[in-house]
Amino acid sequence: MIENRFDEAEAATWTSPAGDDPVEQALAARVFTARLIGQDPDLVMHGGGNASVKVTRPDLYGTPREVLHVKGSGWDLDRVLAPGLPGVGLDPLRKLRQLAALSDLELVNELRCNLLDSTSPNPSVETLLHAFLPHTYVDHTHATPFLVLGNLPDAEAACRAVFGDRLGIVPFVMSGLALAKKAAEVYEADPTVEGLILIGHGHVAFGDTARESYDRIVAQTNAVAAHLGMTTPTSLGVRAPADDLSVLPTLRGVMAEMRGSDKAAIRGGDETPMPVMDLRNGAQAMAFLDRPDLDDLAERGTASPDHVIHIKPRPLILRRATWAAGRAAIRAALDDYEAAYSAYFDRNAPLADAPKTMLTPAPKLAWIEGVGIVGMGTCARTAAIAADLGEQNARVRAVGEAHGGFRPIGEKALFDFEYWSLEQAKLGRGRTAPVFEGQVVMVTGGAGTIGLATAQAFARLGANCLLVDLNQDSIDTALATLGPGHAGYVGDITAKGAAAAAMDAAVAAFGGLDILVSNAGAATAGALLDLDDETLRGAFELNFFSHEALSTQAARLMRVQGRPGQILFNISKQAVNPGKNFGAYGLPKAATLFLMRQLALELGGDMIRVNGVNADRIRSGLLNDDFIAGRAKSRGVDEATYMAGNLLGREVEARDVAEAFVALALSRRTTAHVITVDGGNIEAALR
Ligand SMILES: [Zn+2]
Repeated sequence: MIENRFDEAEAATWTSPAGDDPVEQALAARVFTARLIGQDPDLVMHGGGNASVKVTRPDLYGTPREVLHVKGSGWDLDRVLAPGLPGVGLDPLRKLRQLAALSDLELVNELRCNLLDSTSPNPSVETLLHAFLPHTYVDHTHATPFLVLGNLPDAEAACRAVFGDRLGIVPFVMSGLALAKKAAEVYEADPTVEGLILIGHGHVAFGDTARESYDRIVAQTNAVAAHLGMTTPTSLGVRAPADDLSVLPTLRGVMAEMRGSDKAAIRGGDETPMPVMDLRNGAQAMAFLDRPDLDDLAERGTASPDHVIHIKPRPLILRRATWAAGRAAIRAALDDYEAAYSAYFDRNAPLADAPKTMLTPAPKLAWIEGVGIVGMGTCARTAAIAADLGEQNARVRAVGEAHGGFRPIGEKALFDFEYWSLEQAKLGRGRTAPVFEGQVVMVTGGAGTIGLATAQAFARLGANCLLVDLNQDSIDTALATLGPGHAGYVGDITAKGAAAAAMDAAVAAFGGLDILVSNAGAATAGALLDLDDETLRGAFELNFFSHEALSTQAARLMRVQGRPGQILFNISKQAVNPGKNFGAYGLPKAATLFLMRQLALELGGDMIRVNGVNADRIRSGLLNDDFIAGRAKSRGVDEATYMAGNLLGREVEARDVAEAFVALALSRRTTAHVITVDGGNIEAALR
């Protein structure tokens, strides 16, 4: 059930600042309830909905002019603000109703030509649906209960059973002019209706006030939910502990291997990025995957036609027997999937109104028996969209089948959405992807100074990072600086089994691992003759054995993927240029330097590159202010002089170390190499 979250006091916080201006008041009220609708994923997810308000404004000559403010592309309803509701002149839009047909490109052009502000984003492609209805406020959702109702075999009868004559019933037509005309016709045939169901697509409600329209959206959605017995929200984003996720890295690797041949001539097939995965294995998802009719359900199409952009017409199904059989069996299943997709394209492309270019035949959603529903994308964000819609689609299918059947629009209509001219027009425009887009980077000590600077540097270039550190609070603080698309794992990397557990966390969060930055470390001071055995061994646990355990576990995971990978060590100047009383730090770091070379030797054949950074004198948790003050004093200089005591005469910062890690990661034919980041120190230079 959907909670009605309209609160007068909260509404006033939006409308009061608008003052007495009725236009600003109307817009502020519009923004408020649009956000309420957007914040409930069972009403609207990932672009599947929009909202509008009609106002009268004077034009430049003082003549009053009716203007429609409707959600613009690039804005999500849950965070929309007034600039996300571009204004369009209503009269020219209403005039379009006379036309028999209007292509999508013509529609977008008309919308842009009639914008109030020429710098606004494109108004929603469903703008005409809002324009042709007379109500001041119009809301349109793809609510989960309406997707069940609208895809029943006799959706019309089911709708009448719930609403009688209170809801107009709009048969399925393509979005754009055709749908807007049909919806207006249905409304005009009975202007007493309080909303519309769009068969196979979604729901529309309207009202004289923002609140009236919002109340109707919630009440009507709840009436459907009650009819269908949907008493709980759709499970979204649930990830439970799992026994065996080995299928995910294998699937990642196989999918990249299949795409690799496409680009082999350009950059060398080994560079093809692997998809990022988003696993959902909560109770609802797992129960769905136990259904005996999965193969049949997979063929039916998506719950709402716009979903096809994010999850393709059907999911990849991997039965336990298939994925447990290993890489070759998974490859065979993907070959079958792609062949079926090509056949779908070949069946439908000739029926389209214009020539079409085939999109990638690779799946974006997988139903993996015993494992979960898995969204796949070029980065964590797109994988999460696919996974969210995957969970919603599973529920719509399950509830629909229990109430007569899940019978969405046919293949031809679905193809028209997937190969919609506006989407096709974007192809080949050559979006330049960030260089690490979708690469999964694990950084140990990720909440510390150097670790976080490194994660930030990779994240800025598109990577999805997993921060490994000892403390949840510090990880949360660090993640907040990275924004969405990153994850954390709390663990003591010196504990037995910790390295394997960290790899499992990367697989659960993103499906696998591309780059390990084995960074965590700590210095123990003291002359060797004064150190007890336990202290020295403890230093080896953290500064050598944890690196050894993490890097070998990472390499095992990369071998499962069967694609190139990278291991980067934070070594230390101490590894080549010992400092007095730092033996307990330098000895294990020297071993880690050798570990780097040994692994580079043994893993080169797997295209796993292994490199390191020798940094020195970086302000961090290790080299804190007290420590710096002490060192400076012992050398008889001030702190700034001490920190800048190198050939360049400049303090070296954590971000400089981060840049070196990035530089190594980008040097695609470099392995067994160390970069020194110390501002210049001839004694510590490698020879
Ligand atoms: Zn829609």
